[in-house]
Amino acid sequence: MTTATAAEAAYVVAALLFILSLAGLSQHRTSRSGVVWGIAGMVIALAATVGLASRSATATGLVLIAVATAVGAGIGLWRARVVEMTGMPELIAIMHSLVGLAAAFVGWNGYLDVDAGGHTGQEITGSLLRIHHAEVFIGVFIGAVTFTGSVVAYLKLSARIKSRPLMLPGRHALNLGALAAFVALTAAFVARPHMGLLIAVTVVALALGAHLVASIGGGDMPVVVSMLNSYSGWAAAASGFLLANNLLIVTGALVGSSGAYLSYIMCKAMNRSFLSVIAGGFGGETAVASDGADQGEHREISAEETAELLQDATSVIITPGYGMAVAQAQYPVAELARKLRERGVDVRFGIHPVAGRLPGHMNVLLAEANVPYDIVLEMDEINDDFAATSVVLVIGANDTVNPSAAEDPASPIAGMPVLHVWEAAQVVVFKRSMATGYAGVQNPLFFRENSQMLFGDAKQRVEDILRGLDATAAPVPAMVGTNR
Ligand code: NDP
Repeated sequence: MTTATAAEAAYVVAALLFILSLAGLSQHRTSRSGVVWGIAGMVIALAATVGLASRSATATGLVLIAVATAVGAGIGLWRARVVEMTGMPELIAIMHSLVGLAAAFVGWNGYLDVDAGGHTGQEITGSLLRIHHAEVFIGVFIGAVTFTGSVVAYLKLSARIKSRPLMLPGRHALNLGALAAFVALTAAFVARPHMGLLIAVTVVALALGAHLVASIGGGDMPVVVSMLNSYSGWAAAASGFLLANNLLIVTGALVGSSGAYLSYIMCKAMNRSFLSVIAGGFGGETAVASDGADQGEHREISAEETAELLQDATSVIITPGYGMAVAQAQYPVAELARKLRERGVDVRFGIHPVAGRLPGHMNVLLAEANVPYDIVLEMDEINDDFAATSVVLVIGANDTVNPSAAEDPASPIAGMPVLHVWEAAQVVVFKRSMATGYAGVQNPLFFRENSQMLFGDAKQRVEDILRGLDATAAPVPAMVGTNR
């Protein structure tokens, strides 16, 4: 068997492993094995690619491949080890930017190799040459859009720039103009390739990527992350065509289509139009609504009083959000659920599809703290039950429980499905201040008559409640006070 045939066979095995990996990652129970399949596929793919490259590479080339692999693997290992769960979305965004950058470089390299007499001097003529030029152009375009789009997403998610949408006048016309320019430039380039045209499309794509994501509001960022995931897959597939690498084509298409499907599911969950996401800038039209409006007075509750409230409750729903992840409160929260269930209280968790900062964020944290799967319900499964619930504990969630999304058409998050926590008899909101959530929108829930605020770090407050519950048999000692 030649090296090329062995590499092709290895690529088929790697592609199958990637499909197995995706299937495994779709459920909590199988997600660990999904990761293992993915690692195995990537090791095989890398080994086959290096084996292929070593046939024609010089000694210097081989050393460069070894150095690049070692540096890349080192950085990847280091980032994966130090990243906090709360920092995952921005890490994913910056990784996507690298895929986009690589695709743009591969496109440029394809042009320089063939048209400007590069060192490999490939001989391509006729219609094959025109197809090659179209591949170069499309690869550079998708790669550059993905690159700047992901960098802006990274800057927004890591709060290095404001998450509010950039509202340029005529922004939809700008996006459409950029797409029209891409089509016209592609036709011109295929007819008569010129480096000036390639530079022009690179600049247009870089600007379009940055503008598409900059004009999207904070509340809609989760969809953007999965959309960029999809773009990075298509960018990799475009590189696969240019490099005649079947594995890159298959893997790119897998990532591209699964990312697009995830975006579609998330759009449905947030009541957004999928087409508007692809066009960019959706969800921003009403972005400066009711924030400053006077909402009235809020009421406070102490951890001790919350413990008393829970003792009298027959049913409790816990709705966690990003604040539970920040406080790392999942362990005491799991312990609280266990203790209440021992006392015969019906305890369940209600999970919003975009609670936290990445899809499935809350499910991962609760699984880590060994909360039984059967009491963790999705929003659609639990939303009708709030009205018959004694107490809801909103632990570090804000946008995902905001009634204005359901009741105020002028709200920036209007139409986004939310957990109807306000329908319960009593609501206790755990947070540190009256600050807004990720979308920057004030939450009228905090001012409702049946809502009370329990200020402080969520982990400390839940631990205070646990102590309060433990002390019920004996006279309760002085509890830690609440503070802001
Ligand atoms: P939010 O960001 O809306 O609210 C989190 C709340 O937690 C804040 O109001 C904050 O208030 C509180 N908080 C922070 N730290 C602590 C702490 N240590 N102890 C107690 N409370 C704390 O979170 P949600 O989960 O409700 O909503 C998710 C938001 O993130 C949505 O807007 C969503 O669109 C967006 N998003 C989601 C992604 C996803 O894929 N899931 C990805 C990117 C964005 P305070 O500061 O007063 O404590």
